[in-house]
Amino acid sequence: MNKKYWLLMMFSAVLLVLAACGGESDEEGSEEDSGEAAGGDGWVENITLLTGGEAGVYFPLGVAMADIIDSSFDNVTATGVSSGASVSNAEQLNNGEAQLALVQNDIAFYGAEGANMFSETLDNYSGVFTIYPETIQLVTLADSGIDSVADLEGKRVAIGDMGSGTEANATQIIEAHDMTIDDVDAQYLDFADASTNLQDGNVDAAFVTAGTPTGAIQELSASADVKIVSFDEEAMNNLMEEYSYYTQVDIPADAYDNFDSTASTVAVQAMLIASNDIPEDQMYEMTKAIFENLDSMANAHVRGEELNLETAEDGMSIDLHPGVQRYYDEQ
Ligand code: GLU
Repeated sequence: MNKKYWLLMMFSAVLLVLAACGGESDEEGSEEDSGEAAGGDGWVENITLLTGGEAGVYFPLGVAMADIIDSSFDNVTATGVSSGASVSNAEQLNNGEAQLALVQNDIAFYGAEGANMFSETLDNYSGVFTIYPETIQLVTLADSGIDSVADLEGKRVAIGDMGSGTEANATQIIEAHDMTIDDVDAQYLDFADASTNLQDGNVDAAFVTAGTPTGAIQELSASADVKIVSFDEEAMNNLMEEYSYYTQVDIPADAYDNFDSTASTVAVQAMLIASNDIPEDQMYEMTKAIFENLDSMANAHVRGEELNLETAEDGMSIDLHPGVQRYYDEQ
């Protein structure tokens, strides 16, 4: 190798080192500018937050929470993903396939107890906060002739995705009205597919357990006349007696923009659960980050406005994650 070539190599190497250093300091600068905190040792770096179908309420709120976490810590990447909702979310979280999930408080409880639809105890998740009531809405076209749960007999009824909380609620509600799920032609459809099939006349009614207004119902009501069917009072009383997480609610006429949605029904609570694999200090910081960015939750969906420290433990059906508990104790 001649001397000139050697000098050129050395010069290029020095340039490369300088470029690398420059790049690093640029990056540090931008992290400082973005206000991201460093995060701690042993933190889980990739957070998957399970939501529900894209036409529900979990999806926009879950994506908003994941975005808050993602932009708050420079060593944590968080992503909100669509899923089959509550029951499958609880199972996937428990199996370590995800770290955070939105679920119904009744389903979180059944999982922790290994009761109802769960054949084993799910003991690897804990509670973060409850957010808003999820109303069980039995939706049908205005001229369907369906005015009660009894009228569903023999009808094609969408009961949510397989493994959703909606499926569980539909089954329990039908049973509370002295029928069984076999008395209807049950179809596993997420909210978006239920809405399209209602509109096309392929299903007669759909159960939707979600915060109001639910995107799928709102969209349907923009192109068809729809109604929400009330449940029988006695059936609701029996239901609440048997399953303690249901509360009676009346859907107000103005819950939806373009139809009178007045109906007497029941609701459960939407809540966030966390894997026990998330270290205490990480869960503390992530909870804090969400409570310090409540405006992003409110902007994502009107039900996001309901997250606050005063009601975060209302209807909480399982033990809190230790990091969350410490955060609440300090407030
Ligand atoms: N609560 C519903 C379920 O678990 C999902 C609600 C939503 O996607 O907003 O079936």
